[in-house]
Amino acid sequence: YGDASQKIDYVFKVVLIGDSAVGKSQILSRFARNEFSLDSKATIGVEFQTRTLVIDHKSVKAQIWDTAGQERYRAVTSAYYRGAVGAMLVYDITKRQTFDHIPRWLEELRSHADKNIVIILIGNKTDLEDQRAVPTEDAKEFAEKEGLFFLETSALEATNVETAFLTVLTEIFNIVN
Ligand code: GDP
Ligand code: MG
Repeated sequence: YGDASQKIDYVFKVVLIGDSAVGKSQILSRFARNEFSLDSKATIGVEFQTRTLVIDHKSVKAQIWDTAGQERYRAVTSAYYRGAVGAMLVYDITKRQTFDHIPRWLEELRSHADKNIVIILIGNKTDLEDQRAVPTEDAKEFAEKEGLFFLETSALEATNVETAFLTVLTEIFNIVN
C-alpha cells in the first residue's frame, strides 16, 4: 500500500454515496487498509482516507470521502461533492430498497458535482448471494442507460473492491491525460 516518501503526480477526490448500511465504510476500509469489520460503527468520524497507487508510471493519490452518517436524502452537503472527480454509488444486493434509491442519489450527485464526474454503480455484499434481492441484470441495464460503470463487490471477501476503485481512477486518469 501507499509509500509516503514518493512524489505525488495526481490527487483524485472520489466520494462514496448510497443508503446507510450498504457497506460504504467497509468498501473504503478494504481499499485503504485491507481491513474489514462485521460490526462497523455507523459513523467512523473520519472524513476521508487515502491510498497512493501507480497508474501508467505516475503516482496517484486517491482521496476517498465517506459520508459519516449523513445518508438521509439531501443531508449530504455540497462541500462533500466539491472537487470530486469520481463517485461510487453503492447499494446492497440483498436490500431492494437501497437499489430503488439509486436514481435519487444519482440526481443528487448530478446536481452537486462536476458534470464530467466519473461514476461507478456498485452492488455490494455478493457473499450473501442466497439473500440476493437485486438481479445483476437490473443493475447492469440501469447503469448502461445512465452511462455508469457497474460492478458487484464484496467488501467482506474483498471481491472486486480493488477493481472498482481502479476502474474509476484509471478512467479519471485517462480523462486528465
Ligand atoms: P455504510 O453505512 O454504508 O458505511 O455501511 P458499513 O460499511 O458500516 O456496513 C454496514 C454493515 O454491513 C456492517 O455490519 C458491515 O460489516 C456489513 N458489510 C459491509 N460490507 C459487507 C459485505 O461485503 N458483505 C457482508 N456480508 N456484510 C458487509
Ligand atoms: Mg459508513
